[in-house]
Amino acid sequence: MSTYTYSAGPGVLPTEVMQEIQQHLLTFEYEGVSIIETSHRSASFQRVVDSLELRLRRLMHIPKNYAVLWLQGGATLQFSMIPMNLRKQNRFAYVDTGIWSKKAMEDAKHFGELDVIHPFVDATGGMSFESSLVQEVDYLHVTLNNTIEGTRFTHIPEIDIPLIADASSNILAEQLDVERFGVIYAGAQKNIGPAGLTVVIIRRDLIQSLQLPSYLQYASHVDTLFNTPSTFSMYAAERVLKWVEDCGGVETMERLNRQKSDRVYSYLEESTCFSPIVTGERRSLTNIPFTTGNQKLDQRFERYAFERGLLELGGHRSVGGLRASLYNAMPLEGAERLVDVMRAFEEETHVSH
Ligand code: PMP
Repeated sequence: MSTYTYSAGPGVLPTEVMQEIQQHLLTFEYEGVSIIETSHRSASFQRVVDSLELRLRRLMHIPKNYAVLWLQGGATLQFSMIPMNLRKQNRFAYVDTGIWSKKAMEDAKHFGELDVIHPFVDATGGMSFESSLVQEVDYLHVTLNNTIEGTRFTHIPEIDIPLIADASSNILAEQLDVERFGVIYAGAQKNIGPAGLTVVIIRRDLIQSLQLPSYLQYASHVDTLFNTPSTFSMYAAERVLKWVEDCGGVETMERLNRQKSDRVYSYLEESTCFSPIVTGERRSLTNIPFTTGNQKLDQRFERYAFERGLLELGGHRSVGGLRASLYNAMPLEGAERLVDVMRAFEEETHVSH
């Protein structure tokens, strides 16, 4: 019986990639010297960095006027690095789409005034915001996919100020038009690789020289490794990006993610035991919250699934319920197995009622 993890992050990684890493762990460039023991200033590690960046640029069609930075501190450090580095008049706009956007706002408050914009839901259940509300701010921040709530933007209106996107849970999982954004940032631990790595894709003209502690300044990281980066995570990420390219790129990932999430949503809609928390176009392709409507029954299902090799189906600790994260490396069989186990639970639960 296969075991699947539906963890929201660190999330599932391609088995082939992990097998390859395991095989090469003790010998990177030289016999008996691991990647973990290799200097970040060595020529062999520089090849990893170059290939990692090249692959990301190819996969996301990142133009030359954007820099790609590999940082630490998670997406969470970007909550403060963004306002710190992009401030001019010290006024920022944030679309409030849930817990992670609220956390981004809390950190931004240290650096200026905030305009909080509430999204709207249209007739098809799509999510967007009113662009006329965004005025005289240094930037507008959006969380493209809400990992906890299971929602995503379906339409982002044109605005003439820099658009900053937290893409932690949908980067490489769906296609993004990089040129619409001033900054796209993401923690790596869902669709890119192991934890400990954060990618920041930033339009070069937004990078200012400021009086900031050195690490916290974007300018320090442009086209250079400023300090010791998360070398192992970068190495593994480079292999994951190769896998994404070999699979056919982000377009293929998006198509498969739609297929996987459709399987689960279709079942949730017809089930008499479970229901989806989110309906309509705005529902996430990668994070699917659902519930039986009864906390005890939710917990019973979580245990039932665990005993059958389906791990990490509990909802985020702040909202409870259940949640399945279906990132790029989750195979279609993982979505199908989840539906089978939910169906079996539904049947058994009815019998015992
Ligand atoms: N933003 C989003 C949308 C997330 O899902 C997460 C983590 N799950 C974060 C930010 C925080 O990321 P990190 O743990 O890398 O700081």
